[in-house]
Amino acid sequence: MSKIQAIRGTKDILPDELQYWQFINEKIVSLLKCANYQEIKTPIFENSDLYDRGIGENTDIVNKEMYRFKDKSNRDITLRPEGTAGVVRAFIENRMSTQNNFQKLWYNGPMFRYERPQSGRQRQFHQLGIEFIGSSDARADTEIIQLAMNIFKGLSIQDLQLDINSIGKGEDRSLYQAKLQEYLLRYYDDLDIDSKNRLSSNPIRILDTKNIKTQQLLEGAPTISNFLSPESKKHFDDVCNYLNLLNIPYTINEKLVRGLDYYNDTAFEIKTLQSQGQDTVCGGGRYDSLIHQLGGNRTPAVGCAIGLERLLIIAKEKISLPNPSIDFYVASQGIKAQKMGMLIIQFLRSQLLTVDIDMSSNNFSKQIKQAHKKRAIACIILGDEEVQQEIITIKWMSTQEQEKITMTQFKSRIYYLKKKIIFNKNINSY
Ligand code: ATP
Ligand code: MG
Repeated sequence: MSKIQAIRGTKDILPDELQYWQFINEKIVSLLKCANYQEIKTPIFENSDLYDRGIGENTDIVNKEMYRFKDKSNRDITLRPEGTAGVVRAFIENRMSTQNNFQKLWYNGPMFRYERPQSGRQRQFHQLGIEFIGSSDARADTEIIQLAMNIFKGLSIQDLQLDINSIGKGEDRSLYQAKLQEYLLRYYDDLDIDSKNRLSSNPIRILDTKNIKTQQLLEGAPTISNFLSPESKKHFDDVCNYLNLLNIPYTINEKLVRGLDYYNDTAFEIKTLQSQGQDTVCGGGRYDSLIHQLGGNRTPAVGCAIGLERLLIIAKEKISLPNPSIDFYVASQGIKAQKMGMLIIQFLRSQLLTVDIDMSSNNFSKQIKQAHKKRAIACIILGDEEVQQEIITIKWMSTQEQEKITMTQFKSRIYYLKKKIIFNKNINSY
């Protein structure tokens, strides 16, 4: 029979690889805890309307990249392509604003986009997102940027570039878009096909074109900073000043616009200077109108999302994982000894010790080899002698020392044994 394979653009994360995921997850969660952010989990699929209205119908994500389907009751459903829209829906639906005016939230989970798979670009990938809902203060934008930068710093990732821009409010942007359109129309024939298509639907997105010729044309184009209202200008200056205060280096990039419609004012991206391929590891910005647009009260918010696959590509070489060990490995021979073994692992696991048991019928020397392979601190040996005398043999793997104790002693001395496990673990790690 033919083998069934994983779907193109999806990846299994096997146990060895998962250790790196757990490592970065722990680091990030402890950082977010220090900043008093709380985790939120929202469903992986939502009504497609949420993304049409939230992300915007003229964006690449909604137009080309969504996993959108009809379910058995003919509902229009989409696998989430990003996390913010779902968090905002949950915020409104669960009336979270009545519990607290400020919600500081984070999420981590799979996202789905129909894109051409390549290194750092998958169809199912993972994002860790941070959202600060309820504040229009420039300190909130700064906190989100600071947290994202600290996440990278905490993982010893240096070669990063923070790009930041202000895309103003809706009205400033419409004015700017009209001028940009007017300018680009003059060069219509020289534009690449994508940009031609965007010219009427979403001209501002042309700014981040990868086409060299279009990029050259854009050099003479009007810039957004000349269209910002005094309020937006001040907000942007404030954010920049806070970044200066915190010693966070940044580059103002007037071409940075982001791929989702819901942003206003602050937009930012963090790029790695190490990777050859997909170099943007984090994107974010302010979204003051999204909550109202999705049916909630007018509530300002700012957030960002880190692509975890891309983060791992650059973080991995900096991580040295601790060599995992287990506390006990149980080796047994004979039916009675095997039963004794089952009781012992039940007891040891209730003591929160890490225990594995050999379930082969191999001889003791092979079972003890396995104990070494699994990096057990101690091996419990149960054979005919142990069954007859109702004792347990404990072999300490690093010193080869063996001790024989009765089952009652074993239980009553468990605290002493735990201490000895810790002591031997320390010897092993030298
Ligand atoms: P790109 O320009 O690379 O397509 P984007 O602007 O579409 O990125 P965002 O929507 O801002 O990406 O998502 C935030 C982060 O999620 C990105 O910076 C990236 O690290 C990650 N990301 C986005 N799409 C993918 C994907 N298909 N596979 C892996 N990671 C992704
Ligand atoms: Mg994209």
